[in-house]
Amino acid sequence: MALPLPNHGATDPPSEPTPEMNVKPAFAEHHGALEPDGEAGRPVRAAFFDRDGVLIVDTGYLSDPDQIQWIEGAQMALARLATMGFMLFVVTNQSGVARGLFEEDAIARVHAAMQTDLGDAARIAEFAYCPHHPEGSVARYALTCECRKPAPGMLDRLIERHGIERGGSFLIGDKATDLEAAARAGIAGFLYTGGSLDRFVLGALDRL
Ligand SMILES: [Mg+2]
Ligand SMILES: [Zn+2]
Repeated sequence: MALPLPNHGATDPPSEPTPEMNVKPAFAEHHGALEPDGEAGRPVRAAFFDRDGVLIVDTGYLSDPDQIQWIEGAQMALARLATMGFMLFVVTNQSGVARGLFEEDAIARVHAAMQTDLGDAARIAEFAYCPHHPEGSVARYALTCECRKPAPGMLDRLIERHGIERGGSFLIGDKATDLEAAARAGIAGFLYTGGSLDRFVLGALDRL
């Protein structure tokens, strides 16, 4: 199935064109600015995705970009949501860092490879991760934090930083802890259990 994609540079905000959008900085350039992304007066909706078991196959403490296996329909779902004007975020617990299995650099390489795979069809605004675990073996990461799901810290920080409207935003995860984080952050949560993620996202959008 062909997905309609903007033909004028996929980094533009893919919402309805307005005159002021012609002078706004491109989406990617705007990322990181101090102003909330919703500053122009348009509410910014966001789609948050757990990573392992939702976007890519959960192989257990994945740290090698060559191990990335996209879930069926995941890239299509992200492109669809980008076209609809959703900001896209990944929120993932990566306690492998605290457990001494890999370092944060490895996470960055995996996420860079994921964005490369997606290309301009779907820009992930931020890949947020929690490297902590209270029983970790690496001292500086062995703590109880506010970001490890089910805590809502990653979501709250992204929502505040980007001026995200909680109503109309949602998270898709494959564990109860993902949905608890969403609930505590005041956004809708949907439990993905397999099959086409694109089809699942369409169903979630219907229920928002
Ligand atoms: Mg998961
Ligand atoms: Zn953490």
